Amino acid sequence: MNRKKIAAANWKMNTTVTEGHALLSELVAKGKSSDVEVVVCAPSTHLYMLSEVVAGHDKIHLGAQNMSQHLKGAFTGEVSATMLKSCNASHVVIGHSERRQHFGESDQLLSEKLGVALNHDLTPIFCCGETLDIRKSGNHVNHVINQLNVALSPYSANDLENLVIAYEPIWAIGTGETASPAQAQEMHLAIREFLKEKFGHAMAERTPILYGGSVKPHNAVELFKNPDVDGGLVGGASLDASGFAEIINSFE
Ligand code: PEP
Repeated sequence: MNRKKIAAANWKMNTTVTEGHALLSELVAKGKSSDVEVVVCAPSTHLYMLSEVVAGHDKIHLGAQNMSQHLKGAFTGEVSATMLKSCNASHVVIGHSERRQHFGESDQLLSEKLGVALNHDLTPIFCCGETLDIRKSGNHVNHVINQLNVALSPYSANDLENLVIAYEPIWAIGTGETASPAQAQEMHLAIREFLKEKFGHAMAERTPILYGGSVKPHNAVELFKNPDVDGGLVGGASLDASGFAEIINSFE
């Protein structure tokens, strides 16, 4: 099956509005038309302004990096799904390991957030991944499948029509250490098998599974070659327009 190929950028808490404008403009200028869907997950403060930069570029989408599970009200400092939609975001990252680690976001909470994204027509990029200790213990596959099982269980295959999964081993995020293509493929295949068992063949076959963790221009081709790796979620390397453009062009 021909699954969507996706190159997603996670700018994290980097760039001012002016810098973000320059970075995205440079990326748009470098981009050539291809089958790859590009999603730029920028700070929420930038999204509305960035939507002017990508207007008319139907292969470049904007995403947020987090979102409240609440819809509105007395939740000082939070950003809702409707707010993101009104800034022209089409995607939202849910459960990035930095949210889990630094902000205590649990599988349960992330499952709630996932439901809110689905209800508001925001494409969720749902992250999962194991620590180095868990990998060393050999329990990494069980751990990741359990994260997904808790988060996805309340929903049907229909609900999850637009789901995107990002497998991001925590030991590879921002460390310069990358999972080998074989390690990535092993986990992606296990995730797809899990989806097949739980939601059926069609859902498993259509769901893009991205790899994240020190994806760089020099390793993207080998990672994206794997049959179950449908693209990447890219942090550090997405802050350089030329490098990220190279990653976008790394699909064979
Ligand atoms: C990320 O932020 O999701 C990520 C994978 O970061 P990096 O590419 O810098 O490891």
